[in-house]
Amino acid sequence: MAGWSEQQIQDWYKDQPVVPSRDYVLTLVPRIKDLDQREGFKIYQYGSASYSSRDAKSGVIKNVTHDLYCVLIGDFDVSKPTYIIIGGTHGYEKGGPLAALGFAEDEAASLMNQSNFIVYPCLCPGPYEKELRCTEGRIDPNRDAFPEGAKSQEMQAFAESLKQLHSRIFRGSLTRKFTAAIDLHETPKKDVEINRENAEAGGEIFALDVFPEGLFLIAFDKDMLFADHIIRSVIKEGCHVVSDEFIYDVPNHNGVMLMSEMGKPTGRVRQLTALYTEANFTTEFCGMEIDDTMSDDIRAEPQRAAIRGLLSYSF
Ligand SMILES: [Zn+2]
Repeated sequence: MAGWSEQQIQDWYKDQPVVPSRDYVLTLVPRIKDLDQREGFKIYQYGSASYSSRDAKSGVIKNVTHDLYCVLIGDFDVSKPTYIIIGGTHGYEKGGPLAALGFAEDEAASLMNQSNFIVYPCLCPGPYEKELRCTEGRIDPNRDAFPEGAKSQEMQAFAESLKQLHSRIFRGSLTRKFTAAIDLHETPKKDVEINRENAEAGGEIFALDVFPEGLFLIAFDKDMLFADHIIRSVIKEGCHVVSDEFIYDVPNHNGVMLMSEMGKPTGRVRQLTALYTEANFTTEFCGMEIDDTMSDDIRAEPQRAAIRGLLSYSF
C-alpha cells in the first residue's frame, strides 16, 4: 500500500471546511467564557493551537489560532476529591465536548462543595470545528498523548497543563494524585468514512464489521470495580451499553473493556492522565445513528450518565 505522499498528508487539514454549526469561536468559546462569571468557577487558558486553513469564502489560506481552555471548579482544597473531565480529544466526536460543557453548566455548581473539577471541554478545537478525528499533519491526538515529545500542539499543551495543575494543586508533591479522570469518546457513523480514507492514506484501520451499539468503557484492570459501578449507573439511567461478547476482539466485561496498566504507553489520554490521577477511564458511545443530525442532548446523555457514575462511586 503506497498511501499518501508527505505533501498530501501535510495539505490535508487546511482543505477541510469548517462546519458552521461546529465553529469553535462562535459556538463553544462563548459558553466556556460565560462560566468564568460564576462563583467558584475559573477559566484557565493553558495554551493555543494554530492551524493553516483555507477560508471558505475567499479560498485564501489563513492562519487560524484557537485558544485552549480548561475550567477549574471548586476551592481546590486537597482533602476533597478532584475529578478531571475531558472532551474533544477526537474533534469529530461531538458528544464529549457537549457533555463536558453541559456538566460544567448544569451540574458542577451543586457538587463543588464536596469536590473539585478540572473540565477540559475541547482538547482539539481545530478538528472539532472541521469534524475530523486527526489534527493537522494527520496526527491522531489519542495516539499522541505523551508526557514529553507529543507531536501535536494540542497534546503538548494538554500534557504541560496537567503537569502544572498537578504541581500547583498538590504544591509539588509527587505522591498525591487526582481522584479520577474520564476522557469522553464516540464511535460514530463517520468512522466508516474515516476508515475508508485511512485505508487510502495509510492510517490506522478499525475493525468495524461488527459496529458496536451503545456505550462502553475502557479501564485499567485495577479499576475494574470502579468501572463496573460507572457502567451500572449508566444502565440505571436507561442508556444502552454494548452487549456483544467481544469489543474489537477483546472480551466485553458487561460494558467494560479492560486494559493492562503495565502495557507500553501508546499515546492514549488515559495513560497520560494516569501519571497524575488514581483511576482513569475512556468512554466510547457507539452507533451508526450517531452523527450531527442527532440532537445535542441525546448525543451527550450517555456521556453525562457516565460522568454521574464516576462522581457517585464511593471508595
Ligand atoms: Zn475517540
